Amino acid sequence: MGSWATGVSVISCAGPQGPHGMTANAFLSVSLEPPLVLVSIGRENDSHAIISASKRFAVSFLAATQQDVSVHFAQRFKDPGQALQGIAWQPSPGGLPWLDGAIGHLECEVTDEVVAQDHTLFLGRVLHLDGPRAAQPLVYFRSRYTTVE
Ligand SMILES: Cc1cc2nc3c(=O)[nH]c(=O)nc-3n(C[C@H](O)[C@H](O)[C@H](O)COP(=O)(O)OP(=O)(O)OC[C@H]3O[C@@H](n4cnc5c(N)ncnc54)[C@H](O)[C@@H]3O)c2cc1C
Repeated sequence: MGSWATGVSVISCAGPQGPHGMTANAFLSVSLEPPLVLVSIGRENDSHAIISASKRFAVSFLAATQQDVSVHFAQRFKDPGQALQGIAWQPSPGGLPWLDGAIGHLECEVTDEVVAQDHTLFLGRVLHLDGPRAAQPLVYFRSRYTTVE
């Protein structure tokens, strides 16, 4: 799968300990009518528990200048409330974190959860959109960050 180039997103959510987020590239567009997207999240992840309970998530499409943001949200935090500390963000219409500097944002409501072994596929109906902002995307390829010319 390292030979499959992808963009990089941060999937954010809000739980009892506050806003949280994780880096994800297993993300895709599924349907236009209605607008549906899908993200695959490891079942042990804090984000999994929060999204499964709250049925909401937001997406920030990272720009080429946001490699540090991707690395930040790929780490394991002692508790989920720490993930957004020191990160600039604005609330989506539903109050979920939309990260500053991203190329575009979505806010989604979970419509279906499909268990796939150690991950769950969360299907989300897009409720709100923001962007696109003119910027180059962050790209992940062969375990390295790059961009497109
Ligand atoms: C470019 C990129 C793309 C990625 N794409 C995806 C993706 O599409 N889907 C996805 O699920 N992940 C993806 N990841 C990984 C994800 O960002 C990290 O696993 C992140 O830490 C998840 O955050 P979390 O707070 O939700 O989970 P965390 O609570 O941080 O848990 C993360 C992992 O730590 C393990 N863990 C939890 N507790 C312990 C413990 N006490 N000791 C040891 N291990 C423990 C869990 O098994 C889990 O796998 C990606 C990472 C990168 C760099």
